[in-house]
Amino acid sequence: MSSKMSAACIFCKIIKGEIPCFKLFESDKTLAFLDINPLSKGHALVIPKYHGEKLTDIPDDQLSEVLPIVKKLAAATGANDWNLLQNNGKLAHQEVGHVHFHMIPKPNDKEGLGIGWPMQ
Ligand code: IMP
Repeated sequence: MSSKMSAACIFCKIIKGEIPCFKLFESDKTLAFLDINPLSKGHALVIPKYHGEKLTDIPDDQLSEVLPIVKKLAAATGANDWNLLQNNGKLAHQEVGHVHFHMIPKPNDKEGLGIGWPMQ
C-alpha cells in the first residue's frame, strides 16, 4: 500500500473503501474505477494510490503502472477512439485534488462499449 494519504481527499476515501466505486483494477499502488459523471460510456479514472494533487507531486515509481492500465482499459472498452486526459490545477479545470488520468472512450457505436468490465 502506498503510504501517503489525505483524510479529506475523496479519492483517498475511495481507495480506503469509505466511498463506493465501480472498481476496474486494483494493485498495491494503483486503482482504476468508473467516473461517477461519465462523459461517455466506459469513462474510467486511473489513479496512483499515493496522494498528491498534481502529477509533479507523485514519485515516478508510483506512476509506473498507470499507462499500461490505461492501455488495458481502453482495449477492454472495444472503442477504437478514446482520449487520455490529465488535469493539473484550477486553471486546467482540475476538480479533484488527487492525481487522476481520465480514459474517455469515443464510441461510434454503443454495442462496442461496456464489454470487458471488470478488467481481468
Ligand atoms: P477533474 O476535473 O480532472 O478533476 O475530474 C474529476 C473527475 O472525478 C470528474 O470527472 C468527476 O466526475 C469524477 N468524480 C468525482 N467524484 C467521484 C466519485 O466519487 N467517484 C467517481 N468519480 C468521481
